[in-house]
Amino acid sequence: MTEHMQQFVRLAQQPPEKRAAVERREDFGEIYRDFDPKDAAAQASRCSQCGIPFCQVHCPLGNNIPDWLKLSAEGRLEEAYEISAATNTFPEICGRICPQDRLCEGNCVIEKGFESVTIGAVERYITDTAFENGWVRPIRPRRERAQSVGIIGAGPAGLAAAEALRRKGYQVHVHDRHDRVGGLLIYGIPGFKLEKEIVARRRAWLEDGGIHFHLNDDIGGALSFAELRARYDAVLVATGVYKAREIDVPGSRLDGVVPALDYLIASNRKGLGDAVLDYDSGALNAAGKRVVVIGGGDTAMDCVRTAIRQDAAAVTCLYRRDRANMPGSAREVANAIDEGVEFTWLSAPEAFVGAGRVSAVKAVRMHLGLADASGRQTVEPIAGSEFTIEADLVIKALGFDPEDLPGAFNEPGLALTRWGTLKVNSKSFMTALPGVFAAGDIVRGASLVVWAIKDGRDAADAMHAYLETAAARPDGALATAAE
Ligand SMILES: Cc1cc2nc3c(=O)[nH]c(=O)nc-3n(C[C@H](O)[C@H](O)[C@H](O)COP(=O)(O)OP(=O)(O)OC[C@H]3O[C@@H](n4cnc5c(N)ncnc54)[C@H](O)[C@@H]3O)c2cc1C
Ligand code: SF4
Repeated sequence: MTEHMQQFVRLAQQPPEKRAAVERREDFGEIYRDFDPKDAAAQASRCSQCGIPFCQVHCPLGNNIPDWLKLSAEGRLEEAYEISAATNTFPEICGRICPQDRLCEGNCVIEKGFESVTIGAVERYITDTAFENGWVRPIRPRRERAQSVGIIGAGPAGLAAAEALRRKGYQVHVHDRHDRVGGLLIYGIPGFKLEKEIVARRRAWLEDGGIHFHLNDDIGGALSFAELRARYDAVLVATGVYKAREIDVPGSRLDGVVPALDYLIASNRKGLGDAVLDYDSGALNAAGKRVVVIGGGDTAMDCVRTAIRQDAAAVTCLYRRDRANMPGSAREVANAIDEGVEFTWLSAPEAFVGAGRVSAVKAVRMHLGLADASGRQTVEPIAGSEFTIEADLVIKALGFDPEDLPGAFNEPGLALTRWGTLKVNSKSFMTALPGVFAAGDIVRGASLVVWAIKDGRDAADAMHAYLETAAARPDGALATAAE
């Protein structure tokens, strides 16, 4: 064992410096400063190099974490980068936005007794350093193939698949209805978690590698799904999930009661320099307003923290369970509290009140009951515990369901699960249609970026196997769909 490692016994956990809450409330820049190289090496050296690396087991990508930590501790950063990039298409993005407390770091062996290794921060540091030093080389396939692939959706699942297929030499075309590449990385997740330049840097890298982007291209609109299928040898559907869940209470259609993603997209577009009428008119801008956000997941946390940065008069998060049962990352909840967000746990809205425009939320206190079949405690309202919070802007952040893709694509043959996600063969990633594959949130339901990357990479492998078989057939005909 190298003398560089196992330093957790003498070195405390020290993540990169976090900007003070008063400072970060003022802008949309990331809240962590860059790692100092000496500190990054020292923190990497805290890894115990244990026999069974539970961090790796609990990383959806199976990242070879102990190896790249050891190389980082030894100052061999280019090699660390090569190993990190072998399993992860966008390590610098996962290092920034994975809920590490639930994944790799939450399962770090030294966590029992010492605080975990700062795995995410080191992962981000390795790839940021690799970009600075020109070690992130363009994709250059060893041979070009004539076969082409059409990908619908430029989010992390579509982009991870695009990279993997291009590396194998396919002609890759990514279509997206938005005007920028990145999916929720660009228009959902705010800059204080992931600065937009990081996503733009990856777009430039993918284009440099020969991937073609067709933006403002809503499949099912100007270009039909059938035309797209006819154009390419195989198709990947990576469209994400965008149908916002509704709250069925009186007043939910009042002015000033808005869906979370509309609010976040407006804020992100404004930050990117676009003209955003609904932001400028105040409809999707929290400045000077008393804001109530309903929900307790990542989207809700992004909304409350965006509202703080837009200079809201007050920001309250209303969530029906308690802090321990919030679905969002515990780290992001702590960041929101530091930044001045008020949490009203164990409370649910009963009505939005106002004459035309919302002026208050009527809510009721909840208590946690027995666990249901899924193991989660049920919630029950407490009779007579009603209360009111004044509000000028209410943001609904209750999660997302899939849109009706067979309808949007005019393709009834696309089979769905009972949750409305696309049904695929778990091994071949193929949908009910021959040559049409699917990956990411549209298959898994609303999930995480790291899972979208994993699915995109795995789907690309399956598409490659399928295309090679098709190419080997004398008539070049495509195989039939998996069940
Ligand atoms: C506000 C918010 C915050 C989040 N924060 C985190 C976080 O901190 N960490 C984390 O790991 N995960 C987070 N997530 C979840 C994560 O963003 C998603 O799991 C991930 O982006 C899913 O990737 P995807 O590629 O499947 O879909 P998406 O990222 O949704 O991309 C799908 C793309 O398909 C395009 N598209 C859809 N339909 C069509 C069509 N008909 N024609 C053309 N294009 C189409 C869309 O425009 C979009 O660009 C967050 C989600 C939200 C909403
Ligand atoms: S990809 Fe996510 S879970 Fe895996 S090592 Fe990186 S930060 Fe941890």
